[in-house]
Amino acid sequence: MYNAKSLKAEEFISDEEIRETLEYADANKDNLELIDKIIEKAKLRKGLNHREASVLLACENEERLAEVYDLAKQIKQDYYGNRIVLFAPLYLSNYCVNGCVYCPYHAKNKHIARKKLTQEEIIKEVTALQDMGHKRLAIEAGEDPVNNPIEYILECIDTIYSIKHKNGAIRRVNVNIAATTVENYRKLKEKGIGTYILFQETYNKKSYEQLHPTGPKHDYAYHTEAMDRAMEGGIDDVGLGVLFGLEMYRYEFAGILMHAEHLEAVHGVGPHTISVPRVKRADDIDPNDFDNGISDDIFAKICALIRVSVPYTGMIISTRESQKVREMVLPLGVSQISGGSRTSVGGYAEPEAEEDNSAQFDVSDQRSLDEVVGWLIKLGYIPSFCTACYREGRTGDRFMALCKNMQILNCCHPNALMTLKEYLEDYASEETKKLGIEMIDRELEKIPNPKVKQTAYEHIHDIAEGKRDFRF
Ligand code: SAM
Repeated sequence: MYNAKSLKAEEFISDEEIRETLEYADANKDNLELIDKIIEKAKLRKGLNHREASVLLACENEERLAEVYDLAKQIKQDYYGNRIVLFAPLYLSNYCVNGCVYCPYHAKNKHIARKKLTQEEIIKEVTALQDMGHKRLAIEAGEDPVNNPIEYILECIDTIYSIKHKNGAIRRVNVNIAATTVENYRKLKEKGIGTYILFQETYNKKSYEQLHPTGPKHDYAYHTEAMDRAMEGGIDDVGLGVLFGLEMYRYEFAGILMHAEHLEAVHGVGPHTISVPRVKRADDIDPNDFDNGISDDIFAKICALIRVSVPYTGMIISTRESQKVREMVLPLGVSQISGGSRTSVGGYAEPEAEEDNSAQFDVSDQRSLDEVVGWLIKLGYIPSFCTACYREGRTGDRFMALCKNMQILNCCHPNALMTLKEYLEDYASEETKKLGIEMIDRELEKIPNPKVKQTAYEHIHDIAEGKRDFRF
């Protein structure tokens, strides 16, 4: 029985409800009267439920879809402005006891090089990441209670936060590790993590069990209920995601929105972010083995519909996507991207030899962080290295309130400009620096509150003089 407030996976992600939703969407995909009503509701910027959003996903009317895309662009502009937050993944260990059939870390893969960073190696990796200009990391690890116990992850977080190299610092560590206990989530929270990210991979229980045949990740309920445990452990910023390609995208789309509705219903706050990874080629993995790959157009449609359905949830696109695809979806509501990423364990300090492959997947966007920053500026986006919200305690519903009140221009926008200025001073190439300084001059003028504008001007000046780490 479907119940968004239930704490049981099979009740808040009800297979029956998803199937009925898909039938309803099919039955109404040409019902323009209903579609217009749903679009009108979306224009109120309070989001759509999984049924309404699924009708729009099924709709193929070009005129109506153009309206949805325009609305997605408008919502992005209103709530997020033209900022794009940058981060990098840091792979700590690829030891894994699970049998996920799409992932090269699966336990039976005997030819991938298994690696686990020592604390000395982490210092090297983080120093290399700081020298690129990164301030925000997402740490990644396989699931292995012997090789990567929670104590190891906690120690790594301490090490990462402790490294202050030149003007560099990692100011926010997001964590993408396997589902764990309330007690462990509490320990992660105490270490000062940002978002806890866990991809559902697929919301379809039957497929989930087939795709995760062995290991602790096989347990669908334990995995699906992880965000509730994370919130019980005090983590109020959680990041959802499905791995597109594994199951029918329409099923996943309804599932992820139901998950968001569930978090809102139970904890009073929806997901902080949604990621939209697609299955990629990797050691021992051929994406063509999975039947449900989606075209770039469908991918863009999903991004636009996530934006209008959950306007206050950030959306993340990784370097699994090419420059071309990223360019297509950026205006549709993306708020965070990774840049200069390496998906191998230890790949930042020393690029890995080919025969030594420890990578999780092939990276499509292989540009350096400086190239990504320059590209964003040329497209009119402000590359942001901001980590202010969580350091100011604006997490969970307090962050949502900022977003809902559209205070972005007086807060996130100047923070983005100040962190961009730091990047330009410390790490940028001459060309990027020139483009960035012109952008900052233009963008400072847009700050509506005169006091905030004046303070931002002063801080930008102070950064040029060598001071660092200002925030609103
Ligand atoms: N082991 C943890 C877990 O089970 O959640 C950490 C996550 S793993 C390092 C990060 C994510 O990469 C996975 O959740 C999965 O969605 C994604 N991934 C795995 N194999 C992939 C592939 N071949 N292509 C693209 N993404 C993949």
